[in-house]
Amino acid sequence: MESAFDENAAAEFVARYCDIPEELALRVYTSRLIGGDPNLVLHGGGNTSVKLKGRNILGEDREILYVKGSGIDLETMGPDGFVALDLAFLRKLRDINHLSDQEMETQLQIHKILVSPLTPSVEALLHAFLPHTCVDHTHADSILILTNLKQGAQRIREALGSRIAVVPYTMSGLPLAKEVAAQYEKNPDTEGIVILSHGIFTFGDDARQSYERMIDYVNRAEAFIQKRAEENPLQISRTDVTPVGDIDVSAARFSQVVRGVCAHKDPSGNLRRFYVETRRSPNLVDLSLSGQAQAFCNSGVLTPDHVIRTKNKMVYIDSIPESDERLTEVLTRETDAFKETYDRYFLEQVKAKGVNPRKLDAYPRVFLVAGFGLAALGFTRQAARVAADIAEHTLCAKRRAKGIGEYVPISESHVFDMEYWSLQQRKLAGLPHPLLQGQVAVVTGGGGAIGFGIADRLLAAGAAVVISDIDTPRLQKVHSILRQRYPQGEVEIIAFDVRAYASVEKAFNDISRRLGGIDIVIPNAGIAHVARIEDLDPDKLDEVIAVNLKGTFNTIKASIPVFKRQGTGGNIVVISSKNVFDPGAAFGAYSASKAGAHQISKIAAQELAELGVRVNMVNPDAVFGDEEISSKLWDLVGPDRMKSRGLDYEGLKEYYRNRNLLKVSVLAEHVGNAVVFFASEQTPTTGAALPVDGGIPAAFPR
Ligand code: ZN
Repeated sequence: MESAFDENAAAEFVARYCDIPEELALRVYTSRLIGGDPNLVLHGGGNTSVKLKGRNILGEDREILYVKGSGIDLETMGPDGFVALDLAFLRKLRDINHLSDQEMETQLQIHKILVSPLTPSVEALLHAFLPHTCVDHTHADSILILTNLKQGAQRIREALGSRIAVVPYTMSGLPLAKEVAAQYEKNPDTEGIVILSHGIFTFGDDARQSYERMIDYVNRAEAFIQKRAEENPLQISRTDVTPVGDIDVSAARFSQVVRGVCAHKDPSGNLRRFYVETRRSPNLVDLSLSGQAQAFCNSGVLTPDHVIRTKNKMVYIDSIPESDERLTEVLTRETDAFKETYDRYFLEQVKAKGVNPRKLDAYPRVFLVAGFGLAALGFTRQAARVAADIAEHTLCAKRRAKGIGEYVPISESHVFDMEYWSLQQRKLAGLPHPLLQGQVAVVTGGGGAIGFGIADRLLAAGAAVVISDIDTPRLQKVHSILRQRYPQGEVEIIAFDVRAYASVEKAFNDISRRLGGIDIVIPNAGIAHVARIEDLDPDKLDEVIAVNLKGTFNTIKASIPVFKRQGTGGNIVVISSKNVFDPGAAFGAYSASKAGAHQISKIAAQELAELGVRVNMVNPDAVFGDEEISSKLWDLVGPDRMKSRGLDYEGLKEYYRNRNLLKVSVLAEHVGNAVVFFASEQTPTTGAALPVDGGIPAAFPR
């Protein structure tokens, strides 16, 4: 890799952040350069700092340490990603022998000199104790490959030269900070320090020098590995593995089953489901077929920093069996074995250390599957992505290490200290779990007003939502509005035609490959047609039935194999209509097809209860949509009805508002709220219809 430092880009940062010191703006720039390279750091790993002089409000000189906030991603950070600390005070902490986690955190919090909601990096003291203006820290793959070899320290010296000091693995915080400072003082020519099984720190007089030293040393490690790895390529020993049938279908089946096997109740009794992220690069497929695959899975994390994302070990699956029953059996057996190993590790460490932390769940986060690649699990999609990225880097690094020497796993004692360190655990603790977190919802007819309202409410409830429609421009419009409204939310689009079973089936496989599976299915796609029976073209009737009835049938049918493989129940909420109970003249095609869909839903409620799948109906009336997303139904029937009643658009809305008992306008989000109510299983209800119509006596369900 080459230094990406560019004078013009650096000048842009200085200009963009003209209200802060130039050194800090440059520090932001090179921090982003580091964060942008996945071979250096992944997802919020690593940290950087700069020391500056300033004045307080009384005009007194003071030294300030700007250090990255914990959990901030280097790739996207701005100046406010740094926490400003009282450097002179922090230096004095070097004289203390022991600092509890709580005390270290308190000291860092009370010695901020600018208001910031962030917690300083756990390496803040290390940055403070080194005298250099700038310090950079990464978990570069190539450095870890060398440190994790037998005789790692020697390999590092051979590869990186004499201006690098090597420190044995030491827990982050005060002990590591003191050790690193002492090493530097022994040899002031040192340009960087490698911590075995952890990573590398480089330092310099300015942001550029510190960054370029990082690149230089990582390159030296890279060249050292490259040379030896070429001489000793990985032997692929298995040729007996061929994935069953269509690899995309196998991937979908695997994700659905693994997701079901790993879903579990948390201590408060709530079912926690995982999202699944898959990676299928040729490199991973190769590696999954090698005789080393099992050993790679067992030999643990590259650096303990990763354990909270991936757990220490991975599960190796040596083939994807053809039958779903067999696949479930294999994954259950392997997951149980993993959990047992985890439980044993936890008990051993707790006993050895005499501590009493709250135990984390024992479920694996990463599966390596022969001939396929890897599948990573997370309670949020982001967590699944992070686990997948880290696991991919870990496996590829171990493959390269194999070419050089013996890979030595990090001791479980070190791994445990990091996994159960309160300061690490806090990185995972976010807001309370939203109602539908971990669930995947599919909404058909997502380009219309009601589909939009449903997707909006499901996103607000924390589900990952996939919207579908055959009207692509409308679908894209809804998608972009939802993306803006829920920047942290997970919303995707997938176009499929509910009229064709094969199209729905393929889409459900695609969704499962992308997200893991499906828990909430909302058959909502519908079309309307206005004609009295006398004038109703029989072909037109077929068209309406194809979407409203057969489309609902296809969507329900395609979800059944997914629910079966997951084995965690689920919800189907069919968007029915007030017309099912109270049909109107000239609306036969719509009302009859909707009545058919309503009826098939009641059958589904009876047939799917044994899978724990509930099927309920929501019966809206007169949902007009808004300026952003109109209702396609009202775009069609509105003009006629306005004409026949002599009303304009607003008048028509007013007419429908006055028609119901509660005198309210029914909104798409009301329909969405009804969907969320059913999907969150707040009552033991299936086969029910919930009117969302303001109260229309003729349409009371019976
Ligand atoms: Zn680190």
